Amino acid sequence: MVSMDKLVSLCKRRGFIFPSSEIYGGLNGCWDYGPLGVELKRNVKAAWWDDMVGHHDRTTAPAGAPSAFDMVGLDCAILMNPEVWEASGHVGGFNDPMVDCRETNTRYRADQLLVFRMEPVDSTTATADQSLFASPGEAGVTPDDDLIAPHRKRIKAITKKGGDYRLTPIPDALQDDALRARIFAPGASEPGTLTAPRAFNLMFKTHVGALEDNSSVAYLRPETAQGIFVNFKNVCDTTRVKIPFGIGQLGKAFRNEINPRNFTFRSREFEQMEIEFFCRAADAEDWYRYWRDRRFQWYVDLGLSTEKLRLREHDENELAHYAASCADVEYEFPFGFSELEGIANRTDFDLRRHMDSSGKDLRYFDDQEPDPAKRRYLPYVIEPSAGSDRAVLAFLCDAYTEDEVAGELRTVLKLHPRLAPIKAAVFPLVKKDGMPERALTLYRQLRQQFSTFYDEKGAIGRRYRRQDEAGTPFCITVDGDTLTDDTVTLRERDSCEQIRLRAEEVGAYVRDRVGG
Ligand code: ATP
Repeated sequence: MVSMDKLVSLCKRRGFIFPSSEIYGGLNGCWDYGPLGVELKRNVKAAWWDDMVGHHDRTTAPAGAPSAFDMVGLDCAILMNPEVWEASGHVGGFNDPMVDCRETNTRYRADQLLVFRMEPVDSTTATADQSLFASPGEAGVTPDDDLIAPHRKRIKAITKKGGDYRLTPIPDALQDDALRARIFAPGASEPGTLTAPRAFNLMFKTHVGALEDNSSVAYLRPETAQGIFVNFKNVCDTTRVKIPFGIGQLGKAFRNEINPRNFTFRSREFEQMEIEFFCRAADAEDWYRYWRDRRFQWYVDLGLSTEKLRLREHDENELAHYAASCADVEYEFPFGFSELEGIANRTDFDLRRHMDSSGKDLRYFDDQEPDPAKRRYLPYVIEPSAGSDRAVLAFLCDAYTEDEVAGELRTVLKLHPRLAPIKAAVFPLVKKDGMPERALTLYRQLRQQFSTFYDEKGAIGRRYRRQDEAGTPFCITVDGDTLTDDTVTLRERDSCEQIRLRAEEVGAYVRDRVGG
């Protein structure tokens, strides 16, 4: 598996992702997509939009769906009336518990700080030590080495006394004053430097207009979903959608994460791709299973390795109070299995909250319902909620490969051709004998159909390597024979196999393989 260091370095070197405002030292939790990154991200978002919304066939039930359904889109403002966030529960409840280390001045999310102690496996050969240690990590995903790393010296001193030790997690230790006094925070020289956990609201606050007082407070949306709920009535009134139907939205979201980390995985500014799917309460669980499985399959179809993907159904005590069912699509990143997307049956919770708060009747009128007494109701909602930055990161991690070609090491991004930033590169074998002119003509034809790159500088092998690192699936070389029979060499990125085909066939060949 690729290490994060290698991936971050490739992203920087080849212009996929840069730290935001880097020349000023960056801004924690914010990232800029470079020339290759922006194409990759646009392709991920376009694939989502086309597959879920734009190319949806409203007349036929897709495989596995209980029936045919409608899909439409929205693009809502990032700033919304603050009452939206009161009603949704974000003002009161969108909190993470945070703790500070008074010695190192570092802030942590309490639920992501694992507290453990070194416990002797056999108390006759090793002695217990009362020290507790805290390390960043999420339960179940962090390898032991990472937990030990911030405390290596102190832990070595304990294990030097002899005997075998195991790491024993101490749940809820941060809430307990007496236990907290014994905890060594990462990088702290003495125990007891962590504060008790406090609630921290993740929404970014701003002011709208010239006055900066309570009456002008607004929030940068922490999710795109609420824009869909508050427009539910508008969509019903202006389109011919009938239940069941879905509304998709793609756009920026902002969360003042306590601890942005793992590259773009947890950022403060990111993009979401969300669907709210409205259906009858009685059918909600069927639709939940449909969306859960369909969203999982989407990542498989776009090339993520199935052995690194898993669907994790939440158990009862993990479910939010309003959710009837929830599952996460998780990917095995270099830092462990982590959430790519959540799919939840949110019941009628959100529409009910907005109906109560706004005083507007948001009930749907179902003219297909045979019983007149049941025709007006609040539909149930299935929400598949994905992040495009996390998806891009997963596609990059999965695509990163180091292999050997003709005795030479190469780095190649085996991205699905549909996602590849550049679909084809055109090279003249050498920069003379009319080859550049013929290659340029071909390049100009191809770039009208898909993103194409032209390069005539340097040895041909180096030009191939550069495109391998960029994830370009096809390289087309114009050589001496081209000038007589108009055939070119087309090299496939992953296998390095070369085929010969007529220049006029290249466009259709690449289009066919890029698909979508
Ligand atoms: P987490 O538990 O990782 O904080 P969450 O369960 O709060 O995520 P949701 O509120 O369900 O996340 O958001 C839906 C999706 O939005 C996530 O699956 C993820 O892809 C994306 N997302 C959420 N927070 C972030 C973030 N800070 N940076 C990047 N993507 C994010």
